[in-house]
Amino acid sequence: MRRPEPLIFEISKPGRKAYSLPALDVPAKSIDELLPQGELRKQPAELPEVSEVDLVRHFTRLSQLNHGVDIGFYPLGSCTMKYNPKINEYAANLPGFNRIHPYVPEDLAQGALQLMYELQYYLAEIAGMDHVSLQPAAGAHGELAGILIIRAYHRSRNDLKRTKILIPDSAHGTNPASAALAGYTVVELPTDERGGVDVEALEAAMDETVAGLMLTNPNTLGLFDENIQRIEKIVHDRGGLLYYDGANANAILGISRPGDMGFDVLHFNLHKTFGTPHGGGGPGSGPVAVKDFLEPFLPVPTVVYEDGKYRLNYDRPHTIGQMKSFYGNFLVMVKAYAYIRSLGPDGLRQASRDAVLNANYLLSRVRDYYDVPYDRYCKHEFVVAPLKIKKETGVRTLDISKRLLDYGVHPPTNYFPLIVDEALMIEPTETESKETLDYFADALIAIAKEAYEDPDKVKSAPHTTVVGRLDEAGAARNLNIRWRKPE
Ligand SMILES: *Cc1c(COP(=O)(O)O)cnc(C)c1O
Repeated sequence: MRRPEPLIFEISKPGRKAYSLPALDVPAKSIDELLPQGELRKQPAELPEVSEVDLVRHFTRLSQLNHGVDIGFYPLGSCTMKYNPKINEYAANLPGFNRIHPYVPEDLAQGALQLMYELQYYLAEIAGMDHVSLQPAAGAHGELAGILIIRAYHRSRNDLKRTKILIPDSAHGTNPASAALAGYTVVELPTDERGGVDVEALEAAMDETVAGLMLTNPNTLGLFDENIQRIEKIVHDRGGLLYYDGANANAILGISRPGDMGFDVLHFNLHKTFGTPHGGGGPGSGPVAVKDFLEPFLPVPTVVYEDGKYRLNYDRPHTIGQMKSFYGNFLVMVKAYAYIRSLGPDGLRQASRDAVLNANYLLSRVRDYYDVPYDRYCKHEFVVAPLKIKKETGVRTLDISKRLLDYGVHPPTNYFPLIVDEALMIEPTETESKETLDYFADALIAIAKEAYEDPDKVKSAPHTTVVGRLDEAGAARNLNIRWRKPE
């Protein structure tokens, strides 16, 4: 039998310590002599007193209560929860990168600046763009920077009547939020029956009051828009710009480039595509890339190379300004740099090919058990829905996802994109073996059968996790993250 796992307060014993300090080599003083009387608390804080091994076990146990990509499969659509190679962490832990102070003189930060400069170049090459700023701290932040660049461009031409941004109804929720934050009215475009932008609706909406179109391609259905050239022409012919949401670029690396598709500005998520942990695993980075004619508007500072030296350039009269303190999340850049350099161009292309192959393999394995709303070959992800299952058994997407936890895998994205009823959005990524994909497909198929044989078992899942079904809305609205010692 397994020994019950105690909480740290329950095993606390007065006087037990998780540290040992060397003997004092200065005269001992009491706390009353060191701190002003008014600042002293009346009673000592009730902190747990435990040994080092108890402390280590406590935190190690806590770290395993949650699902992470280093523990198991994590097919969370649109989030690209690929395995992050540990060499990236090694690079980010090198003291020259890790301990560098943001105010260190440029002369002493040449290595860090070189890394940023080269990363800008690699990302521009991957994007098919001319210039990059590494400053934004996340995808949504990159979107805001990009939309502000579009706004600055129209203003610089005194074209002030463009007050709208067009966004398809399949878009990530951050797209309309970023456009609205930049002061634009959002106009939603419908999706056609093939899962792409409804081109006729675009024709009708695109006029001289529209600043641009925000597009994700392949989109959140995992489908490449076959009409991208027509879309590009319609938007550009009428004076608009094209924004590419490249948060999840896992299908296109070294295969197709947004710049070649006609996009003018984009952002990447280094913490999705480029091998950096996210989702509680660390800070993000959402660089923006632009075509030449938008370069003057990039945020300050940019990293430039002149006369054999790298330096930060703040002297940019048309810039949209500074998006983030200092230079962005530098250590995320180091991880992305390590990722790109360790894979190389062929490795990146292979990663995208494998991501697309894995997604299509999974789709082919589950398609007979789940409805497929847009039935085409997919790119890096795909969307299915248990519509028949729901109708015949009452089991819903949320139930299936909760039941997957009992099988030891993280559920796919639920109820997104919004245009698919009961959506299950699945993104296996390139780093998973065929055995893992098969295990997951078998689990999805087993749950589809359970829904008919024992629907209550699915509806009451999970049964094996530390906590069962939670009131998620209640938890979000009445957030309580304070631990109190039980009376
Ligand atoms: C994740 C994501 C974003 C937002 O990125 P954050 O870093 O979470 O702000 C935007 N668009 C798409 C398509 C995404 O998947």
